[in-house]
Amino acid sequence: MTEYLMTIDGEQAASNGTLDVVNPATGEVFATAPECTAELLEAAMTSAESAQRTWAVTEESVRRQALRACAGALIESAAEFANVLTTEQGKPLKDAENEVRAAAGWFAYFAEMEIPQEVVHEDDDLRVELSRRPLGVVAAITPWNYPLLLAAWKIAPALLAGNTVILKPSPYTPLTALLLGTRLSAVLPKGTLNVVTGSDVLGPLITEHAIPRKISFTGSTATGRRVAASAAKTLKHVTLELGGNDAAIVLDDVDPEAVIDQLFWASFANNGQTCVAIKRVYVPESRHEQYVDLFANRANAAVVGDGSAPETQLGPLNNQMQRDIVSRMVESAREDGAQVVTGGSAIDGPGYFYAPTIVTNVKDDADIVANEQFGPALPILSYGTVDEALQRANGTPFGLGGSVWGTDLGAAQKVAAGLECGSAWVNTHMALSPKYPFSGAKTSGLGVENGLLGYLSFTEAQTRHLPKN
Ligand code: NDP
Repeated sequence: MTEYLMTIDGEQAASNGTLDVVNPATGEVFATAPECTAELLEAAMTSAESAQRTWAVTEESVRRQALRACAGALIESAAEFANVLTTEQGKPLKDAENEVRAAAGWFAYFAEMEIPQEVVHEDDDLRVELSRRPLGVVAAITPWNYPLLLAAWKIAPALLAGNTVILKPSPYTPLTALLLGTRLSAVLPKGTLNVVTGSDVLGPLITEHAIPRKISFTGSTATGRRVAASAAKTLKHVTLELGGNDAAIVLDDVDPEAVIDQLFWASFANNGQTCVAIKRVYVPESRHEQYVDLFANRANAAVVGDGSAPETQLGPLNNQMQRDIVSRMVESAREDGAQVVTGGSAIDGPGYFYAPTIVTNVKDDADIVANEQFGPALPILSYGTVDEALQRANGTPFGLGGSVWGTDLGAAQKVAAGLECGSAWVNTHMALSPKYPFSGAKTSGLGVENGLLGYLSFTEAQTRHLPKN
C-alpha cells in the first residue's frame, strides 16, 4: 500500500497515525495519508509564518518565476497526478488529465497577471498610492470534487501576493494534495507551501489557530458557516466558495437537439459533483416531453465505470455518504409522486456507482429541486412563462451560477441579467477561467476567487502618503 507524506517546512513528514484512502470505484483502501497531529500542525504553522517574512520581501519577479516553475512541475508529473486523482476521486482519467492541465494553467496565469498600480491622489506636493500588502499565512481548505484544481485556485494567487500557504484537503481525497506538496517543494522555498492531512478534527484546529490571517475555503454552505464563525474569533479574512443549486433556463426558441449535449454534460460532468453544475433545468411546457426524452437518452447512453477505463464517461460517486444523499433525494421525490424517467438506483456491485438519473413532474419544494444533489440525478421542470421560470430559478437561498439558453441573444441576455447568482452564462454553463472573477451570491459564498479581484483578496490595502519635497 502506498504511503503518501505531508510537506512541512519543505520536508516530507509522516505521522504515527494514518488515514485510509479508498478507491471509490472498488470501495477498497489503496493508500494511506498521514493523520496530522497538533505538534506537526504547529510545525507547519511556524514554518509558514517564518517563511512568509522572507517571501513577502522577495522580489515579485522571483515569486512569478516560482509560479511558472509550479506550472512546469505539474505538467512534468501530469500522468502521475492524473492517475492518483482518478484513483482517489473516481473521475475518468481524461477528466483528471484536464484537471491537472487546468491547475497548471492557474499557476501560469497568475505568474503573468498584471497588477495595476492605483494612484488615488497626485499634485505638486503629494502622491498618494494605494498599495497592497500580503496578509501573512493563508489556510486553504478544499473539498473532494476537484482537489487539485481548487488547491491551485488558492495557492497561486496567495503565493503571488507574498503569502505562504497551509493546504488542507478533504480526507476523501488527500493524495493529490500530498503529491502537490511533494512536487512543488522541489521548486518553492521551504515553508511557502505546507500540506497537512487528517480527519475531521484538523479543519477546526486550523481555523482556530492564531497564525493564519486568512482562510480560503471551498466546501458546503453548512461548513462555510462554521469556518466563518471560527475565523471571527481571531478576525481572519475569509473567502468562502460554497454550495450551489444552479438553474438552466431554456427559452422556447432553442432547438433542443442543438443544446442537449451541452446541457447534459454541464449537469453530469464529474458525475454531477461540481459546485457549478446545472442542478435544475427549466424547459418550456410545449417542449417538456421532448427534453425529458432527450435527457433520458443521453443518461442511458453515458458509459459508467471505473475512471481508469478509457471508455468511461461517468465514474462512481466519490464516497458512500454522497451516494446516500443522492439516493435519498431521488427516493423522496419518487415517494412524493415524481416520475423517475431513467436510473433512480445505486448500481449493484463494488464501488459507489449510481445510475445516471432523470426526474420529472417533481415539485419545486422537493429536496432534489430545492437543495444541492451533488450527484448524477437531474430534475427537468416545465414552465409556462419566462418570468415564472426566472422567479423559480431565483427562489433558492443558493446563488452560485445560472444560465439561460436562447437563439435570440438579446432576449437570453435580458433573462440572464435577472439571475441572482455570481456567474450568469448565456448558451453555456460552467465556463470558468483564472481570468474570470468567481463568486457566490446569497448563501453560495462570501468574497471572490480568480481574476484580479480574487488576487486582491489575498492582500490588504496600504495607502501610502508620499510627499514630493
Ligand atoms: P465539506 O464542507 O464537508 O468539506 C470541505 C472541506 O472542509 C474539507 O476539507 C473538510 O474536511 C473541511 N471541514 C469540514 N468541517 C470543517 C470545519 N468545521 N472547519 C474547517 N474545515 C472543515 O464539503 P465537501 O468536501 O463534502 O464538498 C462538497 C461541497 O463543496 C458541496 O456542497 C459543493 O457545492 C461545495 N463546493 C463548492 C465549490 C465552490 O466553489 N462554490 C466548489 C466545490 C465544492 P473534513 O471532511 O475532514 O472535515
